[in-house]
Amino acid sequence: MRSFRPNKIASKMIVAYHRSELPRLNGSIGFVPTMGALHEGHASLIRTSVSRGHQTVVSIYVNPTQFAPNEDFTKYPRTLEADLQTARECGAHVVYVPSSEEIYPRPDISVSLSGSLSERWEASVRPTHFSGVATVVLKLLNIVRADEAFFGQKDLQQCQVIETMIDLLFLNTKMVVCPTVREADGLAMSSRNRYLTDTQREIAPRLHEALVGCELNIKSDMHVERALEIASAKLIEVGFNIDYFSMVELPSMEPRLSVTNLNSKLALITAAALGNTRLLDNVVW
Ligand code: AMP
Repeated sequence: MRSFRPNKIASKMIVAYHRSELPRLNGSIGFVPTMGALHEGHASLIRTSVSRGHQTVVSIYVNPTQFAPNEDFTKYPRTLEADLQTARECGAHVVYVPSSEEIYPRPDISVSLSGSLSERWEASVRPTHFSGVATVVLKLLNIVRADEAFFGQKDLQQCQVIETMIDLLFLNTKMVVCPTVREADGLAMSSRNRYLTDTQREIAPRLHEALVGCELNIKSDMHVERALEIASAKLIEVGFNIDYFSMVELPSMEPRLSVTNLNSKLALITAAALGNTRLLDNVVW
């Protein structure tokens, strides 16, 4: 199935298709797990790892276990040639492109989650998603054995799940969360943005606009429920189908309807669809 399969490309970057081909790296290791179709968001994670002096390993693997049967696993964009070029330009030292035969030789073991992090928000819409994410990330962390692994704030709940896993399973990799990279009009970059029609693409930045407007309203002492209502109504009016638009406390991601008596960070989180394309975004303060 894999027609493009170079091991060496223009620079010294190594491409490994099996963990036995991964080189021994000297010094500290940084790891950026991805599903490919790399964009500036992924590139910023790779550059951050490189700038922290790490030998940087990027994985590209479209993980089947985090997709439900009705989701876009088969049509998820696969752009390996361009991805290798991007990784090389960002200074990655190794790109690891495993197969499902290697990652899931048998379906015997997986990470199961319990508690509200695994039931709320994304998990309420995609009940098996985070178990699939945690399983593949655990396997990849064990293979790469990085000092630091880099993740995007755009997937805030994913960050909380992985942070919890690293903590409670005593993993030796430190997690670094990097800021969301956006298009000029505010839309959070995502491999799935390419599914948007031209009309949907014009509407899509409204999601970030709604988050920022809502944050401003809350900071100007508007009642949280009212601020959430206004933002949601605006999104519905322009055609979004909202799964959730809520204020949460971090790191628990428990919902909050008040900003008083809080010492922790707050976030507005949302997932909303335009047609068949779900967009995720958040702001943290
Ligand atoms: P994915 O390929 O979608 O699994 O994403 C791989 C990593 O890139 C995850 O840690 C994502 O959170 C991160 N990422 C995706 N989009 C962005 C973005 N716009 N800005 C920063 N990081 C991102």
